[in-house]
Amino acid sequence: MVWDDVGGYAARRVAGTARPGSLSDVQDLVRQASADRPVYPISTGRNWGLGSAQPVTDDCTVVDLSGLNSIRTLDMEAGYAVIEPGVTQRQFAEALRDTGWLVNPTSSCADTSVIGNALERGDGCLRPRTRDVLGVEAVLADGSVLTTGGLDRFSHYRGLVAGPDLTGAMVQSNLGVITAMAISLISRPEAISLFVAQAPAENVGRVIAALARLVRGRLPTTGLPLAANLFVRPSGSFGATATGVRAVLDDYDTDSFTVLVPMLGSLEAVALAQRMVRAELSGLVLDPICVDALTVDPEDPLFAWAGLASGIPTCSVVQNTFGIETCDVDAGPRGFLALMPLLPATPAAVRAVIDAVGEAFEEHPVALAAIEWNMISPHHANGVVQLMFDRDTDSVARAHRMRERLRHSFTRLGFPAYRSDIDHASHELVDRPEDGMVAVATRLKAALDPRGVIAPSRYVPVAVPAAI
Ligand SMILES: Cc1cc2nc3c(=O)[nH]c(=O)nc-3n(C[C@H](O)[C@H](O)[C@H](O)COP(=O)(O)OP(=O)(O)OC[C@H]3O[C@@H](n4cnc5c(N)ncnc54)[C@H](O)[C@@H]3O)c2cc1C
Repeated sequence: MVWDDVGGYAARRVAGTARPGSLSDVQDLVRQASADRPVYPISTGRNWGLGSAQPVTDDCTVVDLSGLNSIRTLDMEAGYAVIEPGVTQRQFAEALRDTGWLVNPTSSCADTSVIGNALERGDGCLRPRTRDVLGVEAVLADGSVLTTGGLDRFSHYRGLVAGPDLTGAMVQSNLGVITAMAISLISRPEAISLFVAQAPAENVGRVIAALARLVRGRLPTTGLPLAANLFVRPSGSFGATATGVRAVLDDYDTDSFTVLVPMLGSLEAVALAQRMVRAELSGLVLDPICVDALTVDPEDPLFAWAGLASGIPTCSVVQNTFGIETCDVDAGPRGFLALMPLLPATPAAVRAVIDAVGEAFEEHPVALAAIEWNMISPHHANGVVQLMFDRDTDSVARAHRMRERLRHSFTRLGFPAYRSDIDHASHELVDRPEDGMVAVATRLKAALDPRGVIAPSRYVPVAVPAAI
């Protein structure tokens, strides 16, 4: 059995699929797995641009957890939920409608999994998903169940209790099959405003630095500032089309990029944040506006982004990106790969990224290369380099060569990946031996999964005996 995926990765040989309906089904599947027939859990399998639903290695049984879709607990007093892997953004947001709480949506399809995204350390529009994850329930390789972070066996979150906590180790790893997660909800605020502006492409370095200053200056509101859709030309200047390669998005404005800052808080806090954002970006952006996100007309092009700022997921970003009317991205006409480097928010680093993308584009032209900066912390931005290409064999091969070339450039520049794909996940720790994590993670894997039956090579390399 093989699957099509929008990234055009080499098809993995898959032993079969299983759709468990309960925690005990998952325990049985893990106990029955072997080194020759490991399990590879997915939640909704829409990890587009990074491998979609494909496993890292051949001969896995893909365990599709989308049927485990209960919201086990919604604690409206404490502000947390305990959800299962099949719970989608749409379902979660619907459950929170008319409550005092919001979900932190990503701009991916409304029918993607909250847990699947969190286990890849994704970014929501309001904050990084790492800040949403309070604890997990995991089935370990021997079939036993572990709960972490203060999540108990009865799906209640008690707060971080004494002793070591393995929550972080369960994210971007292969130490367990996650069957539930405690999620921190966002308090529904008095006001939600969305700052929107286009900025001339040549201002990008100064805009990123200004957004970093805003994050460092502690905006009094919730919301993740984003600079998106900076299209890069082969030369490293700006524009969409590579000579001789069909441009996918001819209609795009390629001389400017988009800046979005959601601001959620009290009326006073939002008013202050609006003044801070306008002042920092003054002279750098064109026609800035702050819209009241709760009153944007459905016909307004900003409607989807205003919804995302208000905790309402959408399919329209995905559908507009791919020019399709459903979210069947893997079967669509356009290929898509994403590369996710951690980027310093300085003009010099911004220039270095653009030059690297431009050089790789020149050598291995694709139809479109765009860069996005998610301003996740006062220290760094999570970068997303998006490559679009036709789905013929030549174009797919060129896109993968470009991705490979860029990965090397980013490593050389000191911009390591914060999130990886099925071709590279097993190299990330190995390529970064200086932090010692590869040795420790491999020993943890050997201790918890000595038979190597859970998602082999997903971030943590195959178990090897610990060095004496
Ligand atoms: C236009 C567009 C916009 C996007 N916007 C965003 C965005 O704003 N933010 C963002 O982060 N991403 C974004 N994405 C990327 C991606 O679509 C999302 O991250 C999506 O949520 C991942 O798919 P999923 O939820 O189905 O997770 P899955 O594909 O189910 O899971 C991802 C991986 O996590 C592991 N995993 C999943 N479930 C389990 C489990 N229960 N136990 C153990 N391991 C598990 C598996 O290795 C799996 O391959 C975007 C993509 C596109 C094309």
